[in-house]
Amino acid sequence: MKFHVLTLFPEIPRAFFESSIMAKAVDRGIIAYNLVNIRDFAYDRHKTCDDKPYGGVLGSKVPGMLMLPDPLSLALESVGAVPREIGGQEARPRGGKPQRVIYVTPSGKPLTQALAQDLAREEELVFVCGRYEGIDQRVIDLYVDDEVSIGDYVMSSGELAATVIIDTVYRLIEGVISRESLEEESFSDGLLEYPQYTRPEIFRGLRVPEVLLSGHHELIRRWRLRKRIEKTLAVRPDLIEKARASGSLSKETEKTLKEIENGNGSDPHHRGRPEEG
Ligand code: SAM
Repeated sequence: MKFHVLTLFPEIPRAFFESSIMAKAVDRGIIAYNLVNIRDFAYDRHKTCDDKPYGGVLGSKVPGMLMLPDPLSLALESVGAVPREIGGQEARPRGGKPQRVIYVTPSGKPLTQALAQDLAREEELVFVCGRYEGIDQRVIDLYVDDEVSIGDYVMSSGELAATVIIDTVYRLIEGVISRESLEEESFSDGLLEYPQYTRPEIFRGLRVPEVLLSGHHELIRRWRLRKRIEKTLAVRPDLIEKARASGSLSKETEKTLKEIENGNGSDPHHRGRPEEG
């Protein structure tokens, strides 16, 4: 898969592409990336990429600046993005176009694991990183396939948002990390992940839950499921409601959930409390 990132600050995503698991995936040829500096497409001698937004009324200006459509559209076309036919926005299929163009914006649809899985099926993703007050609507109308937000807050620019999405997507690509690591991860089936422990067995007086030392596969599996349900109920009950409504909870999960809700959820195997004596 190839990621194109269109930005005024390529050094921000570059650090990510050159580090850790991503750097290895690039070395192994599983991932390719292309950082495009939008400023390279500005044609005045100051390399201007922003201007005042329209809409001011006499005596007062619209606050902030907006990214100019010209340099940005040229940057988009440099990676192969094709503008929609004017007037044909709704009907235009992406057919034949290898890239899916994403504008990261707080007013986009939320990034979810399901969206990441969908994006991971693409051959090429193009990210447009906004700055200032964002980008001209006509660039969105002409080139953008998805507007995606990483959360209900406003950051000063889009590079970190694009990097968050890329990080979420690339680890789903075959060969980047092991399949087992992706199983039972948070959100993989409507539940959050179970708690995990490593050595030492006793840390600052707290023991690893006994069941995890038992070597008993079935007991461990059931304990993990229970912990996933408990955690999800405690911090994200909305996820359980959604999974219930869509009928995607397994029979076992439903049964365990009812036990926990009815107060029969005591967990004899969790000793996550101070050592006695
Ligand atoms: N005027 C915009 C608004 O109110 O929605 C905010 C612009 S923000 C200061 C500048 C840029 O940061 C945006 O164009 C976008 O690319 C990026 N950005 C900020 N918060 C984001 C978020 N939660 N998700 C995705 N991108 C974000």
